[in-house]
Amino acid sequence: MAKITIDDVTKRFGEGDESIIAVDDVSLDIRDGEFIVFVGPSGSGKSTLMRIVAGLETQTEGDIHIGDDLVNQLGPRARDIAMVFQNYALYPNMTVEENMSFGLKMSTDMSADEVEEAVTSAAEMMDIDMLLDDKPGELSGGQQQRVALGRAIVRDPNVFLMDEPLSNLDAKLRAEMRTEINRLQNDLDVTTLYVTHDQTEAMTMGDRLVVLNYGELQQVGTPLECFYRPANQFVAGFLGSPS
Ligand code: ADP
Ligand code: MG
Repeated sequence: MAKITIDDVTKRFGEGDESIIAVDDVSLDIRDGEFIVFVGPSGSGKSTLMRIVAGLETQTEGDIHIGDDLVNQLGPRARDIAMVFQNYALYPNMTVEENMSFGLKMSTDMSADEVEEAVTSAAEMMDIDMLLDDKPGELSGGQQQRVALGRAIVRDPNVFLMDEPLSNLDAKLRAEMRTEINRLQNDLDVTTLYVTHDQTEAMTMGDRLVVLNYGELQQVGTPLECFYRPANQFVAGFLGSPS
């Protein structure tokens, strides 16, 4: 687990008149072990903010702290973060086992036995231990998403970033994976930042909801607070609050 501090973070793409402000002076304190859900329309800066926290994108202004460390200068590997995307990004030519062990072999000094143990334990946790010799192309969408999650937890990260991880799944699988992700959050003691445009995920999965529009923070609160006491017209409209 780790607390995360986002301090006056702004991200501008491009120069001068042509520039776009993707994230506009966002500040947010995320507690150790918290599950935070980010919502907002397409283009509201959710993915950019995730990428900045992950170290895949550099903010134009502001600071990111993970734990007590200022991580502005650190790349993704050094931040001890695991990311899961909607397109899974699995390596098609590798088996599930190789997909899960690749990162560990490349970026840690774990022994072959330790790698195998970590992969086995993550695979059991995601209930994919019977798929370890298969290639991603042989798996269903739901199984691929389980592998993507397995690959993320194999590193035993302190922080999970998930950007619309379930949006390619049908409704039944989405419901199943919502429960699964919340279970992982509890079992693994991670801090999770979760992006979605799904109303049910927004209302049920997180401890707090963060609503963004045009890169600006609109409201931070429990899902019920945001729903029943929306900070402004935008939040009310977006969440479908009763008027
Ligand atoms: P969301 O994930 O909420 O849909 P994004 O973070 O992807 O929003 O995008 C926020 C804004 O930043 C959009 O206007 C998008 O076009 C712009 N943007 C994102 N990435 C880039 C980039 N690499 N170059 C230029 N503009 C970008
Ligand atoms: Mg996005």
